[in-house]
Parts: sequence; C-alpha cells; structure tokens
Amino acid sequence: MSENNVNTLSPAVDDLFWQENYELITESDEELAQLLEQADLPALLAAIAAATGNTAILAEELRPPLTPVDTKNHPHGGMDEAAVKKAKATALAGLIQLRDQQITSTPTLDSQSAEEILAYLSNGRSQWNDMLKHELGLLPENSGAPTWRYEEVAAPGKVFTALIVGSGVAGIAAAHRFEQAGVPFEIIEASTRLGGTWQKNKYPGVRLDTPTFGYSYSFAQKSDWPHQFAQGEEVREYLETVAAKAGLSEKIQYGTKLISATWDEQSGVWQTVVSKDGNEGEIRKFNALISASGQLDIPNIPEFPGQEKFAGIQMHSQEWDPSVDWRGKKVAVIGTGASAYQIVPAIYQDVEQLVVFQRNAPWMLPAPTYHQEVSDTFSWLVRKVPHYAQWFRLWTTVLGIPGRFHTVRAEADWPQEPLSVSHKNQQVREELIELLSKQFEGHPELLKHAIPSYPPGAKRMLRDNGVWAQALKAEHSTLEVSPIAEFRENGIVTADGVHHEVDIVIYATGFKPSDYLDGIEIVGREGLRIHDYWQSDARAHNGVTVPGFPNFFMVYGPNVGGVVAGSLHFMLERASEYALKAIHEVLKRDVRAVDVTEAALDRFTAWVDAENRQMAWGQPYVRTWYQNRNGRVSQVWPFTNIEYWEATETVRPDEHEFLS
Ligand code: NAP
Repeated sequence: MSENNVNTLSPAVDDLFWQENYELITESDEELAQLLEQADLPALLAAIAAATGNTAILAEELRPPLTPVDTKNHPHGGMDEAAVKKAKATALAGLIQLRDQQITSTPTLDSQSAEEILAYLSNGRSQWNDMLKHELGLLPENSGAPTWRYEEVAAPGKVFTALIVGSGVAGIAAAHRFEQAGVPFEIIEASTRLGGTWQKNKYPGVRLDTPTFGYSYSFAQKSDWPHQFAQGEEVREYLETVAAKAGLSEKIQYGTKLISATWDEQSGVWQTVVSKDGNEGEIRKFNALISASGQLDIPNIPEFPGQEKFAGIQMHSQEWDPSVDWRGKKVAVIGTGASAYQIVPAIYQDVEQLVVFQRNAPWMLPAPTYHQEVSDTFSWLVRKVPHYAQWFRLWTTVLGIPGRFHTVRAEADWPQEPLSVSHKNQQVREELIELLSKQFEGHPELLKHAIPSYPPGAKRMLRDNGVWAQALKAEHSTLEVSPIAEFRENGIVTADGVHHEVDIVIYATGFKPSDYLDGIEIVGREGLRIHDYWQSDARAHNGVTVPGFPNFFMVYGPNVGGVVAGSLHFMLERASEYALKAIHEVLKRDVRAVDVTEAALDRFTAWVDAENRQMAWGQPYVRTWYQNRNGRVSQVWPFTNIEYWEATETVRPDEHEFLS
C-alpha cells in the first residue's frame, strides 16, 4: 500500500453501523495465541492485512481452497493442517503488530490492496471482485450506493416521485437506496410496525435459520450480534435500528395499504388508491411504483372437514396469539417445515401432550451452534481487530457464492430417483440418514418416518442441532403420519381412525408464496391486469420488471430467492439498485417511463427455468412451495449471486422501451 493511501476511512463509507476506532489490544502473546485457536483464519488474516497495510502476509500457500460445504462446514475454507499452522503463526505476528503499534483502525484501502485481499479470500477468482467490493463496505467508491443524485440528473422542473410498498427487509433496502439518490418517494406499510416477516412472525422459537452474519445489508453491517443464528426479535430490532439510522423511521406511513395502481397512459403516471387505517382509499399519483410487499406473507391454512366445529384454539404460525397459553395443554402442530421446526422444540417441554402431523419429513443439515451465542473469542475479535466483522461477513459471502449447488444439481438418468438426484446428492442423503439414525436410536418407528422420501435440497433444508429429534422422542409426543381426515369438536381424527384429543391447533403449514401481489390490483398499459397477464405464473425480468407495466419494479419478485447459496440481502439490495438504474435512465433521457420488452422477459425466464430444471427442486416428481400452481419453479434463483450481479449490471437499451 502506498504512503499517500493511508488516511483513515471517512464517514462517506456506505455503512450505517460504521465504526472508526476499535479497542486497543492489551493481551499477552500467550493469550493472543490462545484466542487464535478459535478464530476464522481467512477472515482474520484479511482483517490484519487491511489494518496493517501489509498484504504480503497473504501468501499463496495460505489461500483457502474453498472446499464446498455439504453436510458440514470445512474450517478455514478447507485449509490443510500445514496451511492452518502457518496461518496461525502469521495471524499471531499480525495481532502482536496491531497491539505493539497500537493500530485501532483500518487505513483506506487502495484498489490494488483491496484486490490482493479479495484474491486471497476468493482463491484468485477475480471475476467475483466487483460483487465482493459491493459487499465489503470498506470501499466507498465500490458500494451499492448510487453514484448520482436526482437533482443532478433530472431535467429542471421535472417532478418524479416513487411509491415504495412495504417496510420489511426489501422495503428498507429500497428506501435507503432511493434516499441516497435523492429520488423523492413515499413509503407505506400496511402494518403498524416495520420489519415485514420479522414483525409478523412471533411464534416461540423464531430465529434465523441461516447464519446471522450472512443476513445483513452491506450498508448496515452490525457487528455485535449476540447469537450465531439471531433470534426473531434481534432481527426485528436490527431492522428498526437500520431504519432509524437511515432516517426512514419517521417517513414510513404505517397502517397504509396499497389497494390498486393503474398506469395512466395519458399522463404517464401510476394512479394509486391507498387506504389508511382501513378507510376508503385516497388517490395518489406516482411516477414509479416499487413493490416490496414480501413473498411469504399470506398464510396457507388448509381446509379440513369439520374445522369449524373445533371448539379449541386454532392459529397459524404467523398469526400467533401471545395471549394463548399452551402450557399444560394438548397441542397439535400441523406441518413439519421451517416454522414447525422452531415451534415444536420451543414448546414441547411445557405442553401436556404434543401431536405433530407430518405429511413429508424435512431434511435437516447439521448446525451444532444453532442455539448458541457468539463465542467470547468472536466478540473479542469484533471489538479489537479493526473491521474483523466486515471481513468475517465478506468471508461468509465468499463461501456462500458457490454454496451447496454441487449437492443439488441433478445428473441425467440418475438411477436412484426419486430419492436422490446425483452421486453427490445420494452421498448427502446417506450422511444425513446416518445422523438421523443416531438421533433416533432406539426409536425405529420414528426413524422410519424421519427419513424423507425425496432428494435432499428438493425442499428447503432446515438447521439441526438435535432438538427436533429430542422433541419427537419425548414421552408425551406423537408423530402422526396418517393424513388428517376431519376435525371434531375436541380434536382431530386421522385417516387410520385415530382420534387425537387437542386443545390448540397450530398451523405451521406455510404460505402461499407464488401468489405475488395478492390483494393488490395492478393495471398496466392497455388496461392489462398483472394477475391476468401472469395467469398464476408470476414472472419478472431479473425478478424486477414486468412488460406492459412501466416504471413498476419488484424488490423480491419472482425467481430471486436463493435456497442453497447466496445472500437474500444482496439480492434485495441489488434489485433496488437495478430499479434505481432504470429510473436513472428515465431521468437522464427525460422520458416518462421505461418498460421491459416481452422478449427480454422470455429470454430471462427460459434461462432461469432451464437451470431450475437441473436442480433437485426442479424435478417433475418434487412438490414444493418453490413451484407455483402451474408447476413452474417461480421462487428460486438457481444461479449464484455473481450471475445476479452480472444480470443487473445495466438496464440494457435493447431490452427496454423508453416512453416519452
Ligand atoms: P413450509 O416450509 O411450506 O412448511 C409447511 C409444512 O406444512 C410442510 O411440512 C407441509 O407438508 C405442511 N402442510 C402444508 N399443507 C398441509 C396440509 N394440507 N396437510 C398437512 N400438512 C400440510 O412452511 P414454513 O415452515 O412456514 O416455512 C416457509 C418458509 O418460510 C421456509 O421455507 C423459509 O423460507 C421461511 N421460514 C424461515 C425461517 C427462518 O429463517 N428462521 C423460519 C420459518 C420459515 P409438505 O412438506 O408435505 O408440503
């Protein structure tokens, strides 16, 4: 790093949680050596190289090979023993240097140093650099913040306003980027609080089932998370804090719902009907409409004969009533997906009887630290090594790029279908069955039902630290696999004639995710309704734009959800940035609107569909919420974050019509 590049970073850094100075390291050499035993070496070496300005420590032989994760993580990205030993010695020398030279901040990284560190972490995959720079948060000029301001681009006197619908993870990402660009906008939220899914889902046990550091914005890199898999309330508080720091909290119009939006060809604006506190709608006009209204929002409550006769309490996981006391009661949980997996272990010890109704068993990946706090070593590193948290988050991002795609890609004519889709997938299946066999030892009947009859990864995999098996093995628990035949006043009867007496029924039966924009009428050019256009098959170019619906942008639209790789926040930030790029074009060209072409959407859909068909979840015999009613996988992004980065790099003129 050259001499003239050692100014400390300025507050222009695109990180709302930016921290300039860190605590002094005061520990002895021996104590530092001890701390290293539990550190993540690639992240730590990267942080030390950045803080000391000495990228020469990142020797070729210390590069993590990035062994892909499957049923287990590979410590230090799969570095071998010799590399680990050498990396520890290098890291120890680095920590001693930070201590002795009292280094408590990271100097501004010049481009070359940044790329040397990225080359180390990604083991030379320079094609990932631009995306990684966006994620790092230490390189102001490479963040996702817009590089332009509305007043610089818009023609004098031009009025252009946007409506952002929703203040969950997607809405906050969009609003922050719009605020940074200075594009005038309003943001409405149907609920009384922000946070989307994280303010709605309050059932016992709710928490992340992906590691916390992979679940944050590049522009809001909180470092002091208490849990390795954050609890629901912690995520909600994070979103509240982000909104407050971004100056959005006061801007959000709560209790305000979008009823309809109609494109007015004459004036080139969206005429919306917006209802406040359930009142009759009021008409408001906007030039752009940004839907950030979420995907897993509408509860799926299956219908069973006699449901209305049931005298006890029934509630969906998302509509958990905190006044309901399940303690000492007979409780039924219908469903064995991600929500049930968190509810059942959280309540089973306190109920009198528990019956879990299972249609299909879930696959679970081992996650021994699922309920653990972050370690003391981790907290120490975050407090004392400048920007360790940023580098750790980036390291998580690096590992998440390839993710576990190699475990779910189908081989042609694989003979073990429908149980697995490839050699690797079969290997994963066998390893997971071995783990289940240990967990259900002495319970052969439970074990039989705990083994899914579909390939690993075909549905969303859950995180397992053994609590699910513990709950099902309890004396007072029953795993019921016979289908529900009917409800009676005091319980549920299954097809095999067994009557389960219950006081409370919890529907952990998921959502209706493929019904995008349910309950909202969006009418585009020539009076076309979006749901008529989609015909139950929601599609959007890059998951963002829909032909015939000018200046309409979806943040977390169809086909952008990663399931075995990547970061949701990256996808949402990037979708927001892409929407802003399109608006930038509209302002720059001084036109009214941009409309994506049908051909562009067709190409995009064909590309995504072809890849989804190669995956476990795209096999014809698999049924999952990833698919819509037409059977198309409409939820999942089947590529890495890098392909999304590339797809959303520019708003291609040959794929768009600009309307003057
Ligand atoms: P889900 O994964 O769709 O699971 C729904 C469960 O209900 C499945 O076991 C399903 O069985 C069962 N079911 C549905 N209809 C049924 C019926 N008519 N009769 C009997 N069983 C029925 O829903 P979820 O658990 O609410 O999770 C949905 C998504 O939300 C997750 O995939 C995840 O993306 C997200 N989520 C995330 C977290 C987190 O990050 N912490 C937590 C919870 C949820 P089949 O398998 O047979 O369909």
